Amino acid sequence: MNKRAYNFNAGPAALPLEVLQQAQEQFVDYKGIGMSIMEISHRSKEYEQVNDETQQLMAELLGLPEGYKVLFLQGGASTQFAMIPMNFAAGGRSGSYVMTGSWSEKAYQEAQLMGEASIAASTDKEKPLRMPAPSEIQVPADAAYVHLTSNETIAGTQFAEFPDTGEVPLIGDMSSDILSREFDASKFAMIYAGAQKNLGPSGVTVVILREDFAKQAAKGIPTMLRYETYLKNNSLYNTPPVYSVYMVNLVLKWIKEKGGLAAMERSNREKTGLIYSAIDNSGGFYEGLAARDSRSIMNLTFKLSNEELEKAFVAEAKANGFVGLPGHRSVGHLRASTYNAVPYESCKALAEFMDEFRRKNG
Ligand code: PMP
Repeated sequence: MNKRAYNFNAGPAALPLEVLQQAQEQFVDYKGIGMSIMEISHRSKEYEQVNDETQQLMAELLGLPEGYKVLFLQGGASTQFAMIPMNFAAGGRSGSYVMTGSWSEKAYQEAQLMGEASIAASTDKEKPLRMPAPSEIQVPADAAYVHLTSNETIAGTQFAEFPDTGEVPLIGDMSSDILSREFDASKFAMIYAGAQKNLGPSGVTVVILREDFAKQAAKGIPTMLRYETYLKNNSLYNTPPVYSVYMVNLVLKWIKEKGGLAAMERSNREKTGLIYSAIDNSGGFYEGLAARDSRSIMNLTFKLSNEELEKAFVAEAKANGFVGLPGHRSVGHLRASTYNAVPYESCKALAEFMDEFRRKNG
C-alpha cells in the first residue's frame, strides 16, 4: 500500500484505517456466507443483526436514556432540514432557529418554505465567527422546537455549551461533530447527522429521536418523509443503505474500542491543540477565523495575510501529502477538518508543516 494521505477533507472524510481494512477483509465474503453484505436481503438475519447492533452501539456511546430510538434514513442531513418542519412545525406552531452560519441558514430556509420560522439567536453576521452563549438564546414559549447546529462545518465554530430549552424540544444538527466529545444527549429531543464525517461513508443519515416528541408529529405526510415510518419499522420500511449502515457499525465499534466519547474528546483536543498552537504562536502569520471560545475541535479555519500566500500554502501542502486544506468554496481561506478518524500523526505533521511554512515565508 502507498503511504496514506494526510487527509483533512471536510466530508466525505477520513475513515479509520482499521475499519477500512476490516471492511476489505469482509468485502467479498461476509462472515463466511459466500456473498458480500451488499448482495443479500435487508431482511436477512445478517443484516438485521447489523441494523440492531448499530442502533444499540449508538445509544450506548451517546449514553441515551430510555425513550429514545436510533433511526437510519436517507437523503442526507439536508433532507432533515425539510422533514423537521414538515413533521413538527404543525398546528400553527413554528420552529425557532439558532443562526450561526451556512448550515443553520439552510435549515432555516427549508423551514420557511414550509411555513413560518422564527429566530432564537443569531451570531452569523459577526466577525470573528462565534456561537451564542445559552443566555443569548431566546426561545418563544410556544415554539414547536428550537433548532441548532452544534458545529458549523464551514465557519469552524462549535457550541461549548448547549442551552437548556425547558419544555421546548431541542433539535441538534450534529452532522460534523457527532461522537466527537462528551455531552448530555438527554437535553435533546432529536439529534441528526449525515454519516460522512464522523460516522462512516455517505448514504445514511442517523436520526436519534425521543419517542414522546416523535408522537407530536403531524399526520398526512408522505410515508418516506414521516419519522413514524422508520420508528414503526425499525428503519426497515423500505431498502435501507445497507453498506453505509454496515460501515457505521464498524466505525462505532472502533470508537467503543478506543474508549468511547471521553477518549475521542481527549484525542481530538490533543490533535487540534497542536494546530491551534501553530496558529496562535505564529505572531499573526496565521489568523484563526473563529472566536477562541467557539473554536471547533472538528473544523479548524484560518487564514494568511493574502490570497497568494494561501495558494502557495495549499500547493506546498499538497506536494507534502496534505489533502483537503482549502476552505469551503463559499468562504475561501483555509480549513483543516480533524474528525475522529484523522490520526494524531496527521495533525502533528500539519502543525510542523505550518511552522516551517511560516519560517520560510514569514
Ligand atoms: N449540516 C452540517 C453541519 C453539515 O456539515 C452538512 C454537510 N457538510 C450538512 C448539514 C448537509 O449534509 P448532507 O450533505 O448529508 O445533506
